[in-house]
Amino acid sequence: KDRLFGGFRKTSERLSTNLTEVVGTAKLDDSTLDNVEDALIMSDLGPSAAARIRAKLAEKKFGLNITETELKEAVAEEIAEILRPVAVPIEITAFPRPQVLLVIGVNGSGKTTTIAKLAHWFQEDDYGVMLAAGDTFRAAAIRQLATWAERIDVPIIRGPEGGDPASIVFDGVKAATEQGIDALVVDTAGRLQNKRELMDELAKIRKVLGRLNPEAPHDVVLVLDATNGQNALAQIDVFKEVAGVTGLIMTKLDGTARGGVLVAAAEQYGLPIHAIGVGEKIDDLRPFDPDLVAKVIAG
Ligand code: GDP
Repeated sequence: KDRLFGGFRKTSERLSTNLTEVVGTAKLDDSTLDNVEDALIMSDLGPSAAARIRAKLAEKKFGLNITETELKEAVAEEIAEILRPVAVPIEITAFPRPQVLLVIGVNGSGKTTTIAKLAHWFQEDDYGVMLAAGDTFRAAAIRQLATWAERIDVPIIRGPEGGDPASIVFDGVKAATEQGIDALVVDTAGRLQNKRELMDELAKIRKVLGRLNPEAPHDVVLVLDATNGQNALAQIDVFKEVAGVTGLIMTKLDGTARGGVLVAAAEQYGLPIHAIGVGEKIDDLRPFDPDLVAKVIAG
C-alpha cells in the first residue's frame, strides 16, 4: 500500500481510527452499527454510502462477534463493491484519431498538473499526444501548461491571453489530425464564478469540435480536489449540468484525510473514476484500483 500510495495514508488513518474506536464492544448489534455508520459519515463517505454499507454489514454479520480487523476488512469489501463499477480507465480508442479529451475543473483543483500527468501517461503507452491551451482566460494558465509541455516534450497549441478557446481547439484538432496524433488533451477555463460565460464557452468549443468530428469531445474529464471534501461533490453537480462530464479524476489524495469523498462521489453519481492524483510529480497519477483504494480508506 505504501509503495503505491506514498502519502495517501491520512485518509486511512481517519476512518481506521474512527473504526477502531467503534469496536471494543465487539458484537455487531444496532448500536455498534450506528457507530460504524457515524464513523463512515465523519470520514466523508456521505450519508448514502454510509447507510448502504451499514445495511450490507447488518445483512451479512448482524449479531456476530467481530474483531477490529474483521470489521475493517468487511468495510473495505463494501467500499470496494461501491467503487468497482466506476473504476474505468481512459482508453484511447477513437477512430478517426485524435481522441479529444476536454479537461475541466475549478482553478486550483490540479487541472494543469493532471493534464501533464495524463499526457505523460499516454506517452508511456506510446501514444502521440498534443496539448491545447484552451484556458485563455489566465495568461498564467497558458504559461504553466506550456512549461509542462516543454518538460515532457509534447507539442502544444496555444494562443494569446483572452483569445478564443474554440479557435485554439479548432487549431488543435487540425494540427493533431495532420500530425497523426492519438490524443488531444484540452485545457479549459475553470471559472465557476461565471457559470453563464463558462457554459457559453464550452458550448462553443463543442460546436466547433462537433463540426470537425461528431464524436468529439470523446471525454470530458472533471478534475476534483479531494481536500475540498463535500465541496468537491457540489462541483460534480454544477459541472455535470454545465459541461456534460463523462468521468472524474480526483487529485491530492496524498495530502488529505478526506479520501472518503471518492466513495461518496461513486455512490452518488456513478460517474467513471479514471485515475487519482497522489502527488505533485509527473508520475503521481495512479490508475484507479478500487480494491486497493478501499483497503487504504478502511485502514
Ligand atoms: P489548476 O489551477 O487547477 O490548473 O491547478 P494546478 O495544476 O496548478 O495545481 C494546483 C496545485 O496543486 C499545484 O501546486 C500542484 O502541484 C498541486 N497538485 C496537483 N495535483 C496534486 C496531487 O495529486 N497531490 C498534491 N499533493 N498536489 C497536487
